Amino acid sequence: MKDQPEYITISGVVDDGLCCFCGACKGICPASAISMELKGSFPKPIVDADTCTNCGLCVDICPGHSVDFDKLNKETFGQLPEDKILGCRQFCCVGAVTDETERNKRTSGGLAKEIAIWGLETNQWQGVLTSRLSEENSLRSETFIAQTPDQINSASSSLYCPVTPCATWQHLRDFPGKVCFIGIPCHIHALRKAQSKISWLREKIVFSIGLFCSGTPGYWATEAFLRYHNIDPEKVTSFEYRSQGWPGRVTVQAQGQKEQYSFARGAAASFFDQLKFNAAFQRRGAFVNRRCLTCPDHLAELADISLGDAWHKEYSGDTKGLNLAFVRSPNAQRILDDMQNAKRIFTEKIPSAKALQSQKACLLTKKKLAPTISILKRRSICVPQITGQPQYKTTIKEKMAAWMEIKQIDMAKTYGKWRLLPLAALIMAIIRRLQPKDFPEDETD
Ligand SMILES: Cc1cc2nc3c(=O)[nH]c(=O)nc-3n(C[C@H](O)[C@H](O)[C@H](O)COP(=O)(O)OP(=O)(O)OC[C@H]3O[C@@H](n4cnc5c(N)ncnc54)[C@H](O)[C@@H]3O)c2cc1C
Ligand code: SF4
Ligand code: SF4
Ligand code: SF4
Repeated sequence: MKDQPEYITISGVVDDGLCCFCGACKGICPASAISMELKGSFPKPIVDADTCTNCGLCVDICPGHSVDFDKLNKETFGQLPEDKILGCRQFCCVGAVTDETERNKRTSGGLAKEIAIWGLETNQWQGVLTSRLSEENSLRSETFIAQTPDQINSASSSLYCPVTPCATWQHLRDFPGKVCFIGIPCHIHALRKAQSKISWLREKIVFSIGLFCSGTPGYWATEAFLRYHNIDPEKVTSFEYRSQGWPGRVTVQAQGQKEQYSFARGAAASFFDQLKFNAAFQRRGAFVNRRCLTCPDHLAELADISLGDAWHKEYSGDTKGLNLAFVRSPNAQRILDDMQNAKRIFTEKIPSAKALQSQKACLLTKKKLAPTISILKRRSICVPQITGQPQYKTTIKEKMAAWMEIKQIDMAKTYGKWRLLPLAALIMAIIRRLQPKDFPEDETD
């Protein structure tokens, strides 16, 4: 078994495979000694040893090697959550933006962008840190500070590829105003860890919108998806992971092709197209960063508001999109109330149990943490120190799922085997079907 060493700089975190490529180390380094470089499927931080002053700040705020949920909950919300499955919250709701055209263009119900735009219009913040696929290279992400509603709308729908928004913090010091931050859970972990150490970041970023996350695939996932459909990645001129309503279609424009390729997602796709999609992008699938397998936070528990899809059966006929939202901070509650009164959005409160029904993956994620850590430790692989999470009795199903997830990543590492991955995705889907339909909360001990 390998214990986590005392890290001096983040180079050790990267070497031990614990980096979740949030970019926070680069974003806060006072000596500008860190750059992000694409290595294989993921961007990685590189420390320039000549410039580094060994101040230790990057290690202190890095969410890759450790996250203490109890400490961060107390610092963020002034209390521990009532339950450690869904996290601190004022209430749960489903909702969407009232403008039907915008709702159709956005990812789920469009609340993320609408809240960001509302905050600009009501002068609660003057900039929004948001991400999109780059115009120069449509298969690579970039983060920018949006200052107008049009710029916010130019951000992409969900990016199932690496995004490093915290690296952009370095530009915030000189930004004249307050900022709203949009990110997946590990980006929010980085934000909260950094805010507890760095006062200017606390003052600058006044609101955070967290997106649910079940693992970010590396860039190779998008390449594999294109190859499954016989599209040369070199020829792609524009790409969207989700567009055209809900649950959205993957759309691709390639050189020399008059028509856009458009692939259905979810139940609307054919069996083989579903397999191809899952082989590339399925949650905690073959192309995700191994660090994702030890991430217990599916629901962005430390954000002011967390947003995902409302995957309830009763809304399955909806084609415009609906968000499931966890309204966590009093500030988020006030903003949502104001937006609702102004008829910019509509929301409906739902009980926590109903929210959990839509996101069962969040519980499996927490239950798989212990068996995953145990398998990785047996293979002498470093694991992060995650504290403040519930303990569960592990069953054979979680052990199988944990083993299979690790196995899929091993297969994808040997890029030559990407053709076998649809088969692995099929096996994984069968294992997931074995999960119990209900999740009694008294299983925690
Ligand atoms: C990698 C990933 C995995 C997800 N997994 C799930 C899941 O398992 N279950 C579920 O219900 N929901 C999941 N979501 C969330 C869901 O896809 C939507 O992002 C969420 O419902 C918000 O929808 P919206 O219509 O409010 O967003 P919009 O109003 O369309 O706004 C989207 C905003 O998200 C930002 N954004 C997109 N991708 C990223 C990214 N990778 N990092 C940082 N910012 C980004 C954009 O810049 C934009 O500002 C996932 C999202 C991502 C990015
Ligand atoms: S701060 Fe983020 S990008 Fe930097 S080493 Fe840690 S996890 Fe990786
Ligand atoms: S130790 Fe300090 S100076 Fe060195 S890379 Fe980290 S933050 Fe920068
Ligand atoms: S699963 Fe966790 S660590 Fe992985 S990308 Fe999502 S939030 Fe980050």
